[in-house]
Amino acid sequence: MTSNIRFMDGVKSLKDVDVDGKRVLIRVDFNVPVDSHNNISDDRRIKAALPTINYCIDHNACSITLVTHFGRPKGAYDEKYSLKHIRKRVERLLGKKVVFVDDFEESKDEIATCSLERIFLLENIRFYEGEKKNDETLSKKLASICDIYVNDAFGTSHREHASTFGITNFVDTKVAGFLMMREIEAFSKALEEPVRPIALVIGGAKISTKITLLEAVLKKIDKLIIGGAMSNTFLKALGYDMKKSLYEDEYVQTASKVLKEARLNGVNVYLPVDIVITDNVENPVDVKVVPSQDVLDGFMAVDIGPATVKLFSEAVALSNTIIWNGPMGIYEQDKFSKGTFKLASAIADCYAYTIVGGGDTADAVDRCGESSNFSFISTGGGASLELLEGKILPGFKNLDRKEEY
Ligand code: ADP
Ligand code: MG
Repeated sequence: MTSNIRFMDGVKSLKDVDVDGKRVLIRVDFNVPVDSHNNISDDRRIKAALPTINYCIDHNACSITLVTHFGRPKGAYDEKYSLKHIRKRVERLLGKKVVFVDDFEESKDEIATCSLERIFLLENIRFYEGEKKNDETLSKKLASICDIYVNDAFGTSHREHASTFGITNFVDTKVAGFLMMREIEAFSKALEEPVRPIALVIGGAKISTKITLLEAVLKKIDKLIIGGAMSNTFLKALGYDMKKSLYEDEYVQTASKVLKEARLNGVNVYLPVDIVITDNVENPVDVKVVPSQDVLDGFMAVDIGPATVKLFSEAVALSNTIIWNGPMGIYEQDKFSKGTFKLASAIADCYAYTIVGGGDTADAVDRCGESSNFSFISTGGGASLELLEGKILPGFKNLDRKEEY
């Protein structure tokens, strides 16, 4: 294992401490997507935190306080982002009563009172200005309402905020929850002890957001499969005219460099051989499949074509470890989702260890009904990207450590 993954794997987890009779504060990530009617459209993140919460219940924690952010409020109360909308779902999934706490400072004494199976859900922590500033006062206040701090908010573990990072300076016992540990194990299996050949399937909107990842893994992988808008910049680097397609001019050089590096490292690179194009993304009437070299004037690439799906599917089928980050097209729109969905099924059918990182990719895999056919789907977008890049996530940095590491 590289030192970074090993470092994160070396933190104490919930099972290493005794929660009996203790006030446990769990930083969870209940930042779930909601539709325009405030309906939760995907509650996977809540479900993913259940093992940690249930463990505390089963091991007689005296109170359990759940802390999370939700949406992007501006450091003040905003009804739209109130966790009131989420409480019932948590209650339903846990099968236990959950007390909603408007202001945890006012309810301090109530939280401190020991009575078994008391579960509190604090109002959106990002309503406090100090959360994103990693403010010491807020960190201390949060620390004062618990004996044990558990970080299980993998999706936010790449942030140094008061409830994910600052609080660890003021609590004696601080450990990782089961979701955090599961994520680390899954990525270490793909990155540190993989069964070769290893394929990285990369796509999404921009090369600029994923270049660090590409550079970090080029020496570790055997195949690099590139689709989505990301591939437009690579096709441009090959000299193709991508017309109105989304690509990044200032990264064409970088793309050439990656292709060269890949060659030097013996990595096989797969780029789209055909693409789906349209002249109007919002109202796609004129949609065509063309060879990647033949994008028409006024048109843009919005998905990989059927020949590319076949090519990519065959490339992944011969791999034993497949890491996927980034959709192959504008999958949010039906007409441009085929490439992503078909590749999702092809990867799901592989006899390989298959792992998905990236918020949109996880969403795409879920939409086409293949979620349960992957080995692991990360609950963190940005956090999974940083893990793939080889960084130490701040959410793990200050947690207690196991002796043997
Ligand atoms: P992830 O969240 O999985 O890391 P990204 O955020 O990098 O993925 O990219 C996802 C976005 O990329 C999606 O919103 C998708 O519509 C967009 N995208 C993919 N292919 C294209 C394309 N050819 N043109 C424009 N946008 C694209
Ligand atoms: Mg995204």
